[in-house]
Amino acid sequence: MPPAPIIGVLALQGAYDAHARTLTALGATPKLIRRPEQLAGIDGLIIPGGESTTFLKHLERDGFFDVLNTFVRQTPTLGTCAGVILLATDVLNPPQPSLAALDVTVERNAYGRQIDSTILSEPTSLPGGPIEMVFIRAPRITRTGPDVEILASRDGFPVLIRQGHLLAATFHPELSADTRIHKLFLDLIAESNRA
Ligand code: GLN
Repeated sequence: MPPAPIIGVLALQGAYDAHARTLTALGATPKLIRRPEQLAGIDGLIIPGGESTTFLKHLERDGFFDVLNTFVRQTPTLGTCAGVILLATDVLNPPQPSLAALDVTVERNAYGRQIDSTILSEPTSLPGGPIEMVFIRAPRITRTGPDVEILASRDGFPVLIRQGHLLAATFHPELSADTRIHKLFLDLIAESNRA
């Protein structure tokens, strides 16, 4: 059996603990990442939800932004909610810097105040039927580039997408009991290790 993959979870702030628990449940080894040099040697990375502006502040230190920028272009990465905002090429409402690795435009906090946090069950192209989606002040993906595959949508806007080694969900899969999205990410890592 191949050794358990080591999956970094960016632990600067936000919902990193729940991601680490889901990874452990699936047989992977989570590693909390707080410094740029800790990205070395991991098989994949999760950029969790939280507040993207706060992430950006933390990433200003010690050249973290530049190291992460190189990392996400080469190594499988799953971005959830604020993680999608950090990975996107274009960020609106308001515009802000990003890693620009995932060819999408995102609009922050796009679902309005009344329904900004909600739990839905939506169909996806993954086997196993509709998936529970926990949205918390979620961004909306308003444009996807030609290499982006849409795996699920909400009201006609993509909410789960893949672009090669990058996977992104505008909701919080780590807050649901359903582990299919983390499983998909681990499959994508196994696939890229074989390539
Ligand atoms: N509203 C946050 C932002 O704009 C994202 C929210 C989340 O990650 N749950 O960065």
